[in-house]
Amino acid sequence: MITQERQRWEPDQTDIERLLSGLRPETARILEKPFQDRDITPEEGERLFFARANELEALLRVADALRRQAVGDEVSFVINRNINFTNVCHMGCRFCNFRRRIDDPDAEWLSFEEVAQRAEDAWNRGATEVCIQGGLHPDLQGDDYRNILRAIKARVPDMHIHAFSPYEIWYGAKKDRRTPEDFIRNLKEHGLGSIPGTAAEILDVEVRRILTRNKLSADEWEHIIRAAHAAGVPTTATIMYGHVDEPRHWAHHIARIRAIQKDTGGFTEFVPLGFIHQNSPIFISGEARPGPTYSEHIRMHAVARLMLNGWIDNLQVSWVKMGPRLAQEALSYGANDLGGTLMNERISRAAGAPYGEEITPAEMVRMIRGAGRRPVRRNTAYEVMEAYDDHDPGICAPLVDRDDAQARTLGAVTGVRPAVIKEQLLFQSNNRKGIP
Ligand code: SF4
Repeated sequence: MITQERQRWEPDQTDIERLLSGLRPETARILEKPFQDRDITPEEGERLFFARANELEALLRVADALRRQAVGDEVSFVINRNINFTNVCHMGCRFCNFRRRIDDPDAEWLSFEEVAQRAEDAWNRGATEVCIQGGLHPDLQGDDYRNILRAIKARVPDMHIHAFSPYEIWYGAKKDRRTPEDFIRNLKEHGLGSIPGTAAEILDVEVRRILTRNKLSADEWEHIIRAAHAAGVPTTATIMYGHVDEPRHWAHHIARIRAIQKDTGGFTEFVPLGFIHQNSPIFISGEARPGPTYSEHIRMHAVARLMLNGWIDNLQVSWVKMGPRLAQEALSYGANDLGGTLMNERISRAAGAPYGEEITPAEMVRMIRGAGRRPVRRNTAYEVMEAYDDHDPGICAPLVDRDDAQARTLGAVTGVRPAVIKEQLLFQSNNRKGIP
């Protein structure tokens, strides 16, 4: 087990005193703790989520100061592509509208060649990472996870593969009759570079029962994350907030992430993901609220920066969930990373998020400069690959939708509507994988 050393820094005492003067003593005492190298407890974190007026102002300014101390004024992003290899899933999480049933007309299961082709297209557009996630299709076997990795590495050996949520690892390990530890080690041998820390939702039994019927428990999620870190596979950490949850859940969740990081040092970043409610079954049934409010978004980023201070330096803001304008604003409340350009983000779009499937590197750079910060492109491990101090990123060629292009060409020749041909192409691709 690796034990992470807390990163120390020396604050300017006068600045802090000025910042905290005039606050209620109990709030000032909490806000002072990160400057004294002390952890904020879950109960104190919960209290910060209710900060109002001058206390909220102080919270946001402390978050911004801690961000500057931890990572400076750089704001990073990564050129990557999301590839959702199947949307068929039989788990039935009640917040999810990405999943399809096996006989739904828009059920998809991409062939290994198609996944590899998309990775190669992404590489040719400057991507250094592909993020591969899919539903838990009943026919998936452990070998399918290995074959996806093999197919990508055969085409683009240097592409970093960030793949398979803890839920998928849990499922793949069962299908492969291995322990999660063994399954992760095996996937690493086949090219797995890191694991997305999604499927965390809220690490609380009561909330997970409502969201997912607790099929992957909080303990199982943590077990898989610790196994990945022990195998030398880093992961991200996430929280999904704004549904049936409350501030006490958020504070305990962040404290639990911090406790894992103290033992393993394996998290690269923390990513708050606001719940997208629009097409979600749990919202439609009236059980969940319609996602986080504006002030919950900003508090979440600020409190996370304070509670994770010294343990997780990188706080990512999701432009997909919050939209580019609010994401840009969150850069002033503790965030220092804008995540990936994505190229094909499907999960949030399926749930009803109104934002696009891609932001180009040039748009990322404009957003960061607009926030008065220094744009850099990073790799998955947060190493800076390129700084845009004196130039703009190159123009990316548009992403080719191969089925679309093929359907248009065939449509022009045959006179059949391209949409009909595209459906036929999807049907043929699914047939190759044995999907009815
Ligand atoms: S969140 Fe993932 S595991 Fe749950 S239903 Fe959706 S695709 Fe399946």
